[in-house]
Amino acid sequence: MPDLQQPIVVCGAGGFIGGHLVAHLRQAGATRVRAVDLKPVDEWYQKFDDVENLSLDLQRLDTCQQAVKGAHTVYNLAADMGGMGFIELNKGLCMLTVLINTHLLMAAREAAVQRYFYSSSACVYAADKQVDADVSGLKESDAYPAQPEDGYGWEKLFSERMCRHFREDFGLATRIARYHNVYGPIGTYEGGREKAPSAICRKVIAAKLSGNHEIEIWGDGRQTRSFMYIDDCVHGSNLLLDSDFVEPINVGSSQKVTINQLVDIAEDIAGIKLKRRYKLDAPKGVNGRNSDNTLIKEVLGWEPSIRLEDGLEKTYRWIYDEITRKA
Ligand code: NAD
Repeated sequence: MPDLQQPIVVCGAGGFIGGHLVAHLRQAGATRVRAVDLKPVDEWYQKFDDVENLSLDLQRLDTCQQAVKGAHTVYNLAADMGGMGFIELNKGLCMLTVLINTHLLMAAREAAVQRYFYSSSACVYAADKQVDADVSGLKESDAYPAQPEDGYGWEKLFSERMCRHFREDFGLATRIARYHNVYGPIGTYEGGREKAPSAICRKVIAAKLSGNHEIEIWGDGRQTRSFMYIDDCVHGSNLLLDSDFVEPINVGSSQKVTINQLVDIAEDIAGIKLKRRYKLDAPKGVNGRNSDNTLIKEVLGWEPSIRLEDGLEKTYRWIYDEITRKA
């Protein structure tokens, strides 16, 4: 946890992880939280009246200076991103996010910020380490020699290095988490930026409600991933922020599943069985990805542990309520 009496700035607070982080900081007793996002405040997933809410474009230096003024701790969770369908088709937009981290680092240095948290991604890992669905977990050293996901992954890897050099050269205390697929309620589940767990919940719910018991799956369903529930993500981020560990580190679940197994779990929650249609030309990302948690266990004495079955049930229920409420 950051010092809860000091000013804390959450960038990207209108998004999925940022919204949960602000909620958590308030519950923990933080009294001086500033939440910042590009979107108009009434479009944020979570917003709180006792927080200073600012709608700012953080690709600009002057707005970053405004955002971090007086801050003790800054979390940078702002990015133009989405699931595989978005990042494979919007590489230029993903790369432009480099402006956010660059300008936030410059502004944080000027403002003598005490801690700066950066949300990197498993997309920094080299493609040749992820060709086999039966992948063993990715270790932090697997990011080099560099061969990250084109566009989004290159931006993350470059921004990680900027954080490193601002720490080494200018003394800004940066902490870097490599998140592996985060999921949970109160996030994107439709519109093209959603990720596999919420997309699959939405499709299973649609099948259940319509009675058309079919589902389209991107790829052959045999690609593997791990998925981290949002509460683990927020907890792990704050443990890292507090720690003295300065290198990039995996913050992800090591419970590896195939996409077919993810669908099995969603079907069990819904209490139905669906006929599966595989869309082999859809964006599907690497064949295999999982988090090796040796380092996080050693450094933080902790690793994400919320079971996919439990987290997905909460996510499914929230999406179900949203869909039926809007219908
Ligand atoms: P999200 O899209 O829900 O939230 C990101 C927020 O950043 C959005 O609300 C967006 O409006 C905001 N933003 C975009 N451009 C901005 C700008 N110019 N100025 C201000 N705000 C801007 O995404 P998320 O899932 O909450 O992810 C948060 C961070 O974690 C991102 O950096 C993402 O790359 C990283 N990450 C997420 C996952 C995941 O599975 N969700 C995995 C790996 C890394």
